[in-house]
Amino acid sequence: MDIIHLLPDSVANQIAAGEVIQRPASCIKELVENSLDAGATTIQVLVREAGRTLVQVIDDGKGMSETDVRMAFERHATSKIREAADLFALTTMGFRGEALAAICAVAQVEVTTRRPEDEVGSLLEIQGSQVIRQEICQAPVGTNIRVKNLFFNTPARRKYLKPNRTELRNILIEFYRIVLVNPQVAFTLVSDDEVLLDLTKGTHKQRIEQVFGKSQRNQFTAGLVELRTDTDIVSIRGFVGKPEYASKSPQQYFFVNNRYMRHPYFQKAVLTAYQGMLPPEHNPSYFIYFDIAPESIDVNIHPTKTEIKFADEQTIWQILQAAVRESLGKFHVAPSIDFDMPLTELDLPQTTIDPAKVKQPRMSFNPNYNPFEVQARASYSAPQKSQVKGWEKLYDEPEITDEVSLPEDIKPMQVMGRYILVPVSDGLMIVDQHRAHLTILFAEIEQQMRSGRPVRQQLLFPETIELSADDMQLMRQLQDQLLDVGFELEQLSSTAYAINSTPALLGAEAPQRCLTDILAAVRETGINARTEWNRQIALAMARDAAVPYGKALPEQEMVNILKQLFALPVYTKTPDGKTVVSRVLETELEKRF
Ligand code: ADP
Ligand code: MG
Repeated sequence: MDIIHLLPDSVANQIAAGEVIQRPASCIKELVENSLDAGATTIQVLVREAGRTLVQVIDDGKGMSETDVRMAFERHATSKIREAADLFALTTMGFRGEALAAICAVAQVEVTTRRPEDEVGSLLEIQGSQVIRQEICQAPVGTNIRVKNLFFNTPARRKYLKPNRTELRNILIEFYRIVLVNPQVAFTLVSDDEVLLDLTKGTHKQRIEQVFGKSQRNQFTAGLVELRTDTDIVSIRGFVGKPEYASKSPQQYFFVNNRYMRHPYFQKAVLTAYQGMLPPEHNPSYFIYFDIAPESIDVNIHPTKTEIKFADEQTIWQILQAAVRESLGKFHVAPSIDFDMPLTELDLPQTTIDPAKVKQPRMSFNPNYNPFEVQARASYSAPQKSQVKGWEKLYDEPEITDEVSLPEDIKPMQVMGRYILVPVSDGLMIVDQHRAHLTILFAEIEQQMRSGRPVRQQLLFPETIELSADDMQLMRQLQDQLLDVGFELEQLSSTAYAINSTPALLGAEAPQRCLTDILAAVRETGINARTEWNRQIALAMARDAAVPYGKALPEQEMVNILKQLFALPVYTKTPDGKTVVSRVLETELEKRF
C-alpha cells in the first residue's frame, strides 16, 4: 500500500503558520504592514489580553473586493508580486502572500472591507482555514480585521506564549519598529481599553519625540543631531545622539527602504565614529534611515528575521561611519580628538543617563573641527564583517589579585578622587572607592530583600515619573519587586507613576534617576527571571547610591568603607565582576628603583 499523501491545506497552513506567526506581536506586524501596503494613513490597533484573545487592526487603506478578500487568505496569494524578478524590486512590506493564510490557520478571523469604488463592503469569517461565512455588508472604506483566540487550535503554541505583560512589550517593540519609519501615518495602540500610544502624523523627528520623549526628563530629541549624506549607492538620513546623551539603554534603530533592520556590522560603523567620546558602558541612541536601490539589498531572507543583506557592505560601512562623524563634528559635539590623552573621566557619573548631570567641559570643543581631516589622519577603514562581534569592550580591567586582608590600624589616603590607598605589610593596597561602596550597598540591599523589610522613606510630596509605553509595561512587571526594596509606586495614568516612598539608602537622590537606571538594567539583561531582576535592581540601586568618583572622603569615611568592605565574604570584585581591590607588592616596587 502506498503511504504518501498530500496534507490538507488547513494542516499545511498550520505548519507554515509556525514560521510566520509566532506570537501576537508577529500577527500585529503582519497586519499593520498589510495596512501600510494598502496605502492607509490612519491605523488603529486594538488588543485584548496582549493579543491572546483579540488583535484588531483597522485601516483606511484601499480595501479589497469581494473576490480578493476570499483569495487573500489562500496560501501564496498576493497582489504584490507577480514573478520572481519582482522580488528584486520590492516596494511593499509584504510579498510572500503567507501572512493571512497563516493567521487564519491558527485563529478565528473576521474581516470587513470596502474599496472606495464599491457601494457595499464584504464580510468574511474564517476559522482554522475554513470559511464560515461570507456576505456583503455596510462598511467604511478600508479594512477592519479581527483575529480572535490566536492559537486556539494549537495548544502547544498557546502555552509557549509568555505572560501578558511580556507579550505586550513584544507588541510595543514591533510597533516602534513600524511607527518610527512611517511618521506620515497616524497610529493608535489600545490595550484592554487603555490607550498606550496615540501618534499623530508628522515628521520623523516628531515621531521619535512622540514615542520616546516621555521616557526622558529632557526632551529626547534635544539630544539628537541630524545626519544626512547622499552618494551614488546609498542615501542616509536620520539622527544620532550627542555623546553626552549616551545611555546604558540607548534606542538604536536602522531602517532600509522603510523597513526596520538589524545590522550589527553597520552598528559597529556608528559606534566607531564615537570612539573616545563615550563614558564606559554608555552607548548613543540613533535612528538611521537608508535609501538604496531595491535591487542592491536582499530582504528575502526569512519572514521573521530582520537581518538584511547589502550588495556593498564595506563601502556603506565607510560612508555611514564618515556621515556620523561629520554630523557629530558639524554640531561641535565631537571633541578635538585626542585619543592619546589619558582618560580623565573620573568626574563622570558612572550610572546616570541623565544628560544634565554629565559634565560637558571634559571635552574641549574645536569649532573648526573638520571630520574629514580627522578621518584622513586616523584612516578608519571598514573591518571585515567577521571581525565584528557585538560590542567592543571599552576598557580593560586588570585581573583579580588574590585575597587580601585589612591591617588593624589603617591610615588610608585618597588619591585622584577615586582610589583609597592603604599601606599594608607587604606593599600597598588600592581600593576603588565607588566600587567598594557599591559592593557594600549591594550586600545590604540583598539582605533587605531577603528579610522583606526594606528601610524606606515616605515622601511628603510624592514624585512622579513619566515613562514610555514599553517602560510602563516593564514597571508593572517590576512593581512588587521594587516594593521589596522600598519603592512604593502607584500608577497615575497610562504614562506615569507616582513614587510614594523610596529606599532610605538613596538619600536625597532623585528617585526617578534610580528607577530609570533599574528599568534600563533589567531590560538589558533580557532575562525574564525574578532572581535576575532582583540582582539587577540591587545593582542599579547600589550604583546610584554609592559614593561617586571625584568625591572627597574624610578619613573616617574611608575607614568605614574599608571595614565594611573587608567584612564581606567576597570583596575583591563587585557583584558584576569588576575589580574593587588591587595590590602593589613591595617586591614590585623595588624593581622600579
Ligand atoms: P502579502 O502581504 O505578502 O501579499 P498577505 O497574506 O499578508 O500577503 O496578504 C495577502 C493579500 O491580501 C495582499 O497581497 C493584499 O492584496 C491583501 N490585503 C491584505 N491586507 C490588506 C489590507 N489591510 N487592505 C487591503 N488589502 C489587503
Ligand atoms: Mg502581508
